[in-house]
Amino acid sequence: MSSFYIETYGCQMNTAESDALEALFLGSGWKKADKPQDCDVAIINTCSVRQSAENRIWGRLGSYTPIKKHKKMTLILTGCMADRLGEDIKKDAPQLDYVVPVNDKLKILKIAKAACEDEEVEFVHNQDYDFAVSYYKEGEFSSFVPIMNGCNNFCSYCIVPYVRGREVSRNPEQILEEVRFLDSKGVREITLLGQNVNSYKYGEMNFPQLLQEVCKQCKSIEWVRFESPHPKDFSDDLIEVIAKEQKVAKHIHIPMQSGSTGILKAMNRKYSAEQYLSLIEKIKSRIPKITFAVDVMVGFPGETEEDFQQTLNVMDTVGYIEAYMYYWNPRKGTRACDMDNQMPENEKQERLQALIDFQLNKAASIKEKRAYGVQKVLCLSPSRDNAKQMLGRNEHNEMVVFDICSVVKPSDMVNVELLYLNGNTYVGRQV
Ligand code: SF4
Repeated sequence: MSSFYIETYGCQMNTAESDALEALFLGSGWKKADKPQDCDVAIINTCSVRQSAENRIWGRLGSYTPIKKHKKMTLILTGCMADRLGEDIKKDAPQLDYVVPVNDKLKILKIAKAACEDEEVEFVHNQDYDFAVSYYKEGEFSSFVPIMNGCNNFCSYCIVPYVRGREVSRNPEQILEEVRFLDSKGVREITLLGQNVNSYKYGEMNFPQLLQEVCKQCKSIEWVRFESPHPKDFSDDLIEVIAKEQKVAKHIHIPMQSGSTGILKAMNRKYSAEQYLSLIEKIKSRIPKITFAVDVMVGFPGETEEDFQQTLNVMDTVGYIEAYMYYWNPRKGTRACDMDNQMPENEKQERLQALIDFQLNKAASIKEKRAYGVQKVLCLSPSRDNAKQMLGRNEHNEMVVFDICSVVKPSDMVNVELLYLNGNTYVGRQV
């Protein structure tokens, strides 16, 4: 029995695609190896969003040279780095056997089979993205459901449109079929995935309509989440569906990137800080218990101290309980890479630290006020420190550790009374 090994880097989309690949290999009778030294075929599913991500991959590629000296093995690289650099990667990594673009990921099993039989493989490159039938990972109770791939927005700092191509939306029948399958498997939460989920469009069906249809399939599934929406495509219809559909988790991740309209323009984000804030106000007034997560970037070329203050003002006004914060990195192939007024690295780091300090304090004060009442919690795992406690997560993606009063297991949904906040985790008791 041949064996495979997959290492995955980058975004949730890459994780979902690796899960689909793993299911294909296992479904075809292959054995999953625990480490690269034990496999016949190794697959590196790469990320190109920042240079640091690629540098890590070059390091990983280097670690395969000694392995391949002592063992016959096929090494395959796929993911966004394959699309950005192509076959040239092999010039600097001769230990690599195949470079497989994103659109051809599902062909990797065929390539692996042929490679194990020492047959050469010629594959025709897919022009369009190929969605897998399922992205389910056996035994998991949280699952990703890709609904679209690619992006048409061309934010000036982002490499994604150049490596993942134009937006392609998945057939809704296939999505609903997968959601029914996941529901039958006892999955409790799903995340609809895409680089720009709310520009989903397949025939007449748009994202709010799809979200409504997905909720209708959910019995065992308690929470439906989606990642990542773009503020410019966040319609009133979508707000209505989030408000009305009990299954839609009332925690929304809306990337902001900057609180300065001038910087948002330079980023080509297609909305102003005022428009972003009025969207948030509209959602808050329609769904009072809603909470938000955000993506924020500091240190973009030309960002002044005043621009940065505007970012802090928006963070303060909205009040995020979760934030992904980073500083701008030049990405070859993007427009921002050639922009003037680039800040020195240390200044970017200082600004990021100031942002993180601000956000940690802000989130702590918000969460402190939310540490009460009974909430539904998804059980994740027994507490390592106390056998009478369970670790879980609530609808707002917040961690909860709680005393149990009955036999519970991971994937159970239980009611927990929150008592207080300990660091970033709520402490409570099952009721
Ligand atoms: S919306 Fe902008 S940041 Fe997001 S994937 Fe598309 S181009 Fe990149």
